[in-house]
Amino acid sequence: MDCSPREEITTATAVHSPTSTSTGGIVTAMDWSEDGVYDVSIEKILSSMREVPSGEHYLTPTELCAYDDMATTLVVDAALSFTTHKMNHRRRYIKTDERRAAAHVMDEFVKNNDFMMTLRKIFSLKSVRAFLAHQTDNKRAEFRDHLLRFLQMFSFKAGFTIEPCNRYSAEHNQGARLVVTRHWQKGDRIDRLCGVISELNPAEEAALLRKDQNDFSVMYSTRKQCAQLWLGPGAYINHDCRPSCKFVPNGRTASIQALRDLRPGDEITCFYGDHFFGDSNERCECCTCERLGRGAFTGIDENTSDSASASGSVEGDSSSSTTHAAVAAGAAATQPARVKYGLRDTDSRLNRPCWRSAIH
Ligand SMILES: [Zn+2]
Repeated sequence: MDCSPREEITTATAVHSPTSTSTGGIVTAMDWSEDGVYDVSIEKILSSMREVPSGEHYLTPTELCAYDDMATTLVVDAALSFTTHKMNHRRRYIKTDERRAAAHVMDEFVKNNDFMMTLRKIFSLKSVRAFLAHQTDNKRAEFRDHLLRFLQMFSFKAGFTIEPCNRYSAEHNQGARLVVTRHWQKGDRIDRLCGVISELNPAEEAALLRKDQNDFSVMYSTRKQCAQLWLGPGAYINHDCRPSCKFVPNGRTASIQALRDLRPGDEITCFYGDHFFGDSNERCECCTCERLGRGAFTGIDENTSDSASASGSVEGDSSSSTTHAAVAAGAAATQPARVKYGLRDTDSRLNRPCWRSAIH
């Protein structure tokens, strides 16, 4: 609904004055008056937010990469105090002083879960205003929704959260993992956790993906015969050969469903594919491979492996006396017999002759 200019000015003034702050890189009340049209547009977008956004989106792969990088910088990195995965490693998304401001905003959000206030503060950052300055209102709303998806990680109602993880060498042993914070039953959908999907054509793959740098979350749909970029909070779900959950694709997003009963502290893991970590996942570093002495742990002394198992590295095992063979059988049972979606062995994909020339 369009508003008259008088109504727009009134709305912007009434809303922004009490929420403006001089903390870090957040603009002051004076700054808000400099570009009132922009502020009114943003305020309309923020005031129409839904705490749990629609699963629908119309982001192109390029937009999804940029929005995801910006959102993870503002929410996840600010909360965890280190830089997590990025699609564009060379781009500097926010200024140094705004990193401190973003960290402060996230500290507050973790305590009060005030989605609207948090969005207002994030949208007040000068880097965010510059990022959105030439975007349409529809795209700004999509960015708002992408932020909300990540804020769910710190919501009291979400039933899961994100925490640092130093297990995986591919992340230089500084990554993250998702864990549940309440009991979930087998078959439950973790409804505030989603993956965001955007289909890639060969030209987009060549333009956006860099081998071993940002191809960490590319799925291949055998049904659609195309590669897909999977980002959003779901991209923080680690692989396990005996996964606790599975992805359930639904158009442009995917939900996450529990494959067994989960207890607080259990990690949310999914099965990426049979050959994601080399042939037959020979380089897999997951907890199950550690327990079974498989993948990257093949040939490691059994006593070391047993010690790791005893420490509880495999989540959700009901019996500590379960034999390796029985666990292996369980792993096979939880892996889909016919995988419609699987993270592709990206080395093979990017070295394919027909695309190699476009990438290099
Ligand atoms: Zn494994």
